[in-house]
Amino acid sequence: MTDVDKIRADFPILKHKIYGKDLIYLDNAATTQKPQVVIDSIAKYYSELNSNVHRGVHFLSDKATTAYENSRSRIATFINAKNSYEIIFVRGTTEAINLVANGYGNEFVKEGDEVIVSYLEHHSNIVPWQMLCQRKNAVLKVIPVNDDGELIIDEYKKLLSEKTKIVAVGHTSNSLGTKNPVKEIIELAHNSGAVVLIDGAQAVQHTKVDVRELDADFFAFSGHKIYGPTGIGVLYGKEDLLNAMSPYQGGGDMIKNVSFELTTYNELPYKFEAGTPDICGSIVLGDAIEYVSQVGLDNISEYESELLKYGTDKLKEIDGFRLYGNAKNKASVISFLLEGIHPYDVGTILDKMGIAVRTGLHCTEPLMKRFGIPGTVRASFAMYNTKNEIDALVDGVKKAKKMLS
Ligand code: PMP
Repeated sequence: MTDVDKIRADFPILKHKIYGKDLIYLDNAATTQKPQVVIDSIAKYYSELNSNVHRGVHFLSDKATTAYENSRSRIATFINAKNSYEIIFVRGTTEAINLVANGYGNEFVKEGDEVIVSYLEHHSNIVPWQMLCQRKNAVLKVIPVNDDGELIIDEYKKLLSEKTKIVAVGHTSNSLGTKNPVKEIIELAHNSGAVVLIDGAQAVQHTKVDVRELDADFFAFSGHKIYGPTGIGVLYGKEDLLNAMSPYQGGGDMIKNVSFELTTYNELPYKFEAGTPDICGSIVLGDAIEYVSQVGLDNISEYESELLKYGTDKLKEIDGFRLYGNAKNKASVISFLLEGIHPYDVGTILDKMGIAVRTGLHCTEPLMKRFGIPGTVRASFAMYNTKNEIDALVDGVKKAKKMLS
């Protein structure tokens, strides 16, 4: 990996002090910090480009539209989509999944059909499907996990049948870090005639994703977890599926012609982008992705694996440390508990040392129930974290243990 100090210098927030101490930001699975190029790009948009897209004949509108569409093309290239119009700008992973649950689900899921999710899912990849199943009298099935936090693929095979219409699984678990065998999951679903949505919220910032190599039907991710702004995200969908779907929201830009008798819809991707989009966010997301590509996902992935191993080995030495998520294939997430101590208390003490971790259910309540725990403390690493910061975390956890035991 290129020099981590050089990367850290790109992130102004990392220079800040928290309670007079150096900020050690280990909550990257919740959201990542932003490099200066992303911050500058936001200012540049509002200083030089601001105008509405697709509507104006004037100079600025044309410039903003070009930048907006160029960003779409960049994102298509980043995940290797065949066409840029298969990239839909949405608010984030949550909206992308709701779009598919409504646009595809309402059209193609009927009474008695089945939708499969997994125990590892974030609430945003459970609840929209549950709502769909309630609307349609369909059945939600759940792939179980083993004690290491890995999906049990043999059980998944048993759930699949001609009734399965949609399989929706995460690429990487935000809670435990498990990387799922998504290519295999997709192939098995396709053999049963189902379409697959991959929740890539925890994937694109850590690993190279190629939607065509995976043969994913839908793929969703959020800008803010890949060093971009909040409020912007991406839904990738295969052209034929997107064309067959009904629109998610009605309004300006998503229509071809409107009359009180009959409205016809616009072509892709605009059919799914009703109203004024987050123009700034969309453009800036392209710049964030450019930044990540320049550092290189192979470099990032290798470096983060090193941090994961270093942190796991050190924390495991602490008496009473219990790791949740022992998958063979794992992203840089360490979810843990200290025996007899509530995760919230550990997190609060670490915070006073300037160390930001997440505590609680991580929006994966069924998974926490599966392990019979009230939540975990979660440290999640990004490309700018260092072994020194992990040493500070380990010291902090030891101190917290002493204070709380
Ligand atoms: N899925 C996963 C795996 C996530 O980690 C998250 C965010 N924590 C989401 C979905 C939802 O993303 P957002 O809140 O950006 O829509």
